[in-house]
Amino acid sequence: MKLELDTPVQFLKGVGPHRAQAFARLGVQTVEDLLYHTPHRFLDATTVTPIAEAVVGNEVNLVGTVVSTGIIPTRRLKIFKAVIQDGSGVIECSWPGQPFLERVIKRDLLILVSGPVKFYHGRQIVPREQIILGEQGESELLGRGMILPVYRATEGLSHRLIRKLINEHLEALVATVQESLPPHLLKEHSLPDLRDTFRAVHNPPTTEAAERGRRRLAFDELLDLQIVVARARQIAKAVPKGPRIENRRDLTTQLKNNLPFELTSDQKRCIREVTADMASGERMHRLLMGDVGTGKTVVALFAMMLAIENGYQAVFMAPTELLAEQHGRSLTELAASLGIVPDLLLGRLSPSEKQQVRKRIAAGEARLVVGTHALIQEHTQFSRLGIAVIDEQHRFGVEQRAALVGKGDSPDVLLLSATPIPRSLALTVYGDLDISTLRIKPAGRGAISTDVRPAKARSKVYEFIRGECDAGRQAYVVYPVIDESERTDLRAASSMSVELKEKLKPHKVGLVHGRMKTEERELTMRRFRDGEIKVLVATTVIEVGIDVSNATVMMVEHPERFGLAQLHQLRGRVGRGAHRGYCILMSPERSVPRRLRQFAETEDGFEIAELDLKERGMGELVGARQSGGLFLRYADFSKDAELIPAARSAAFALLEEDPDLSSKPNQRLRQRIERRYERGMELFRVG
Ligand code: ADP
Ligand code: MG
Repeated sequence: MKLELDTPVQFLKGVGPHRAQAFARLGVQTVEDLLYHTPHRFLDATTVTPIAEAVVGNEVNLVGTVVSTGIIPTRRLKIFKAVIQDGSGVIECSWPGQPFLERVIKRDLLILVSGPVKFYHGRQIVPREQIILGEQGESELLGRGMILPVYRATEGLSHRLIRKLINEHLEALVATVQESLPPHLLKEHSLPDLRDTFRAVHNPPTTEAAERGRRRLAFDELLDLQIVVARARQIAKAVPKGPRIENRRDLTTQLKNNLPFELTSDQKRCIREVTADMASGERMHRLLMGDVGTGKTVVALFAMMLAIENGYQAVFMAPTELLAEQHGRSLTELAASLGIVPDLLLGRLSPSEKQQVRKRIAAGEARLVVGTHALIQEHTQFSRLGIAVIDEQHRFGVEQRAALVGKGDSPDVLLLSATPIPRSLALTVYGDLDISTLRIKPAGRGAISTDVRPAKARSKVYEFIRGECDAGRQAYVVYPVIDESERTDLRAASSMSVELKEKLKPHKVGLVHGRMKTEERELTMRRFRDGEIKVLVATTVIEVGIDVSNATVMMVEHPERFGLAQLHQLRGRVGRGAHRGYCILMSPERSVPRRLRQFAETEDGFEIAELDLKERGMGELVGARQSGGLFLRYADFSKDAELIPAARSAAFALLEEDPDLSSKPNQRLRQRIERRYERGMELFRVG
């Protein structure tokens, strides 16, 4: 049978319906998907250390046969251990808190482990990653100095089987591929053609060849993304602006004169940028990015006052009731002296209350409206919407943002984000937006000390938390539950809260996690906000935006399981009021890992974002994830920084010539983009 790009993998010899189902779990349905299911790493004989030569303190890759396994229960957690052996010697592998590995790592299997070598009753490796290699045959393969691709696998479909299938069919698979890039681009950026690319990534003669292939796929991915954002930008800018805004220096000037504090220089700059946008003939389409506590709300308030002094309505949408209420309160305070009282539209209002607010909105009597998703329901109609501000913008879907913006006649749009990301990444992810950044925090706010504490300091830390509670303050304790369906994790978090309840009596301890009903969770959060609950144990679903200025302690369990940007978000929860904040990282390691030390040393969100990016690569970035499910598979920020501007200028040049990619030579490119982004060219449209 002749293969095409869209032939289901089921029809490949050796696959069949059963394995096709397993492939589907990996997102592989067609021949094309299989080609793009590239190895996530390559094993190169030169990077594997003989076990006898693994030196304490080094990061190593070891390959060995499992000779024994067992679970060691300790007071706090179960440790899975395995002893592996190669021709040169033996070493113990230790996986704290992962007893379930017993079902996976069995005697006689050949495995690869990567991680640091430590000393604990002898040499020991604490793997960050392990791969089952299977039979001995493959160690020979490695011994011959070959490069072994390792694929993401699933139950019923080992990475070895995937490798075997791809190898057998590689030429037939590759024959279905047609080049999608114009030759001048390949040449200009020294990229291999698409067929060679797939040969290189699936069956590389050297790691360098594999890397050249990956780089080509990364370029394609970045190019597609840049085309989508460039297109979105074109569309957004092409819509004529509705509101006519002049800087009347009326409400905005009053606001400036009445503020209870001096604006930071960053805030002043951002207000200037926003004002210039709004007063220009083009619609504003701007992202305001800054750490928690940098004062984004005031900047947004200036923008809203500018719209209002020009006779328009302004709307501010927050992702949760709690946040909307909080904003309602603080905006009421700030705008009080201007004679403007915000109207609140919340889900929990009674139907008649909601109807009343909606009436005021429709009549144009409500000038400043603050609310939640309730704002985007059909029967909310604005009379003259001039600006839409969306807080924590990543927590809304593209459609929800568009729905709010659609309430007006092409209003200005200001998106707020508390996830700072480096400039080059911002260009990638938010390429269709203009960006303003707030870097400095207002003086005297947000003083936080960060400490990494070892396990043996636990009771001291509890004592410290008790002390803060006794002094009337509050604490968060965060426990990482990566996958809420992992019962072991959830149980650990719950038993943690039970232990704390006992230790902190009579202070109240509450627990929130992602498996709880929303109402139940919001209730607990509310009791925490109102000070009734003193210590909140939370899994990673903790309401990122919640503002409890009385909370002074953020204790994080297993900080090694969090990304640095995530830790930074957590840290931002405390030190928001008059009292000093404390971020305490409970490290199971005996010496402080370098990454945590770096984290403790800086409070600058942008700097941490850079570190996080280096550590995890682009695809894993929180920021990238948050941009509406977009996520980069091949691009690697630490290596591809130069590809981003290249892809960007190539994208703009392509669209310059052929704005909707309708010309014949661009058809393959267009189809690829449509396939890659299910919502096609609409992905980034915000309004
Ligand atoms: P975020 O950027 O996290 O949304 P907010 O806008 O909520 O930050 O501001 C955090 C707190 O800092 C608020 O209480 C706000 O009133 C206060 N604030 C904002 N700007 C300043 C400033 N320039 N000086 C002092 N306090 C400020
Ligand atoms: Mg905020």
